[in-house]
Amino acid sequence: MRVGLAMIYHESNTLVDQPITLESFRKDTLCYGEAVRDAFAGSHHEAGGFFEGLADDGIEAVPLLAARIIPGGVVTADAIEALLSDLIARVHAAGPLDGLLVAPHGASVSEVDRDMDGHWLGALRRHVGPDLPIVSTLDAHASLSRTMVEATDAITVYRTNPHLDQFERGLEAADLIARTLRGEVRPAQAACMPPLVINIERQATAHPPLSDLCARVDAVRREPGVLSASMVLGFQWADVPEMGTSFIVVTDGNPDLAQTHADALGDALWDDRDRFVAELIGIDEAIDEASRDEARVLLLDMGDNIGCASPGDGTLIAHALRRRAAEAGPGFVCLADRVAVQEAASAGIGETIRLAMGGRTDDRHGPPLVADVQVVSLHDGRFSEDLKLHSGFTEYDMGPSAVVRAGEGMTILLTSRPTMPFSLKQLTSCGIDPESFRVIVAKGVQAPVAAYAPVCDRFIRVNTPGVTTVDLDRLDLVHRRRPMFPFETDFEWSAARGLS
Ligand SMILES: [Zn+2]
Repeated sequence: MRVGLAMIYHESNTLVDQPITLESFRKDTLCYGEAVRDAFAGSHHEAGGFFEGLADDGIEAVPLLAARIIPGGVVTADAIEALLSDLIARVHAAGPLDGLLVAPHGASVSEVDRDMDGHWLGALRRHVGPDLPIVSTLDAHASLSRTMVEATDAITVYRTNPHLDQFERGLEAADLIARTLRGEVRPAQAACMPPLVINIERQATAHPPLSDLCARVDAVRREPGVLSASMVLGFQWADVPEMGTSFIVVTDGNPDLAQTHADALGDALWDDRDRFVAELIGIDEAIDEASRDEARVLLLDMGDNIGCASPGDGTLIAHALRRRAAEAGPGFVCLADRVAVQEAASAGIGETIRLAMGGRTDDRHGPPLVADVQVVSLHDGRFSEDLKLHSGFTEYDMGPSAVVRAGEGMTILLTSRPTMPFSLKQLTSCGIDPESFRVIVAKGVQAPVAAYAPVCDRFIRVNTPGVTTVDLDRLDLVHRRRPMFPFETDFEWSAARGLS
């Protein structure tokens, strides 16, 4: 038995004006054939699970193509068409295949088709015909489409946020395709897509209210005849009609049973929808809360969420922490600012200079933070993480970086590239002790928690403005469904009756 492996993986924030070209993929990950195995076998990624799961089942893995890039804007027409034609050519050249394991992200938008993942999965299905099994993984921050469901035999979705189970979902997908090829099961899947999105501020799978819903999905997974059951949390910054929260259930040959279970989950979420509306805490309110005791607090800058394609140079919380340093205590913030790094490097270690930091990309994330700072240290910005944290990244490259200290007890890590705050090594590799601060700012919502839980006592999610604002009223989404909760609230819905 031979199973082909393919990955085209990108999360598009359509509010970000940063087109993703083939060159963008090339700078991150774009590889073919055995180079895919070299890049992903043994990794925490689902492709790592594909390789290991197939090997366990004695199935030959035939790596075809892997294209991956960190979150950004919309993928250009040239890029997706080139990737798709490469993929089809590789499938053609691979010789007889018994099945395909695929890893889209699920929230890619291209200039060709707003449902980019449905576009390439559909094209793949048309090429291989209706009978070749295709099993897919998805990031939980996907916009599940009917096209994706129809193009694949089974879909399984990350169950954790922060994402800690990608490898296990890869194993699950490999196991599903192995059992299908052995003739033990015949996957039949169905989805329910209620007109609703769970705000990312409510998307912590380990905590209520979402943990309650995860438990219901777990219960469905244990039902007789069910092979897999997943919740797709949704990604509110991809402006597509499919944006929202959905459920997908895979049964053994029983599409009606799959639909019944998926619909029941959709109805359960709808009935509980008021618990999934975001709690919006402003900056000053967050600092009040952080200052009430001696706990070490992580302030999550939700409007400048690097993992969802923001610039990482937002200064609004840093300004407030400086202004209120007497109450808040020693603080830490990381800002992406190549120019400030260069100025700090030119001044040299130990020197004190007046520096404007951050707030350069646009006017949505606060003005530059201007302060007299001492240059503490300079770094190449590369570090490795061996712990399995959000998304399982192991190699980081922040570009040339500088640590500077301002007079009010604030330490600032300046990096040349926006760097997702998914590892404490970001600080410790630059000689910064996270436990020397009372308040740490991380630019994200849920993902940084996996890294910072060992050193922070409390987590406060701060409603900052910016390109990744969680304040849905500020999102200018043209393509979303209407009505949709919680954008609109004066309507009813059920899986059986639809909108009313
Ligand atoms: Zn995700």
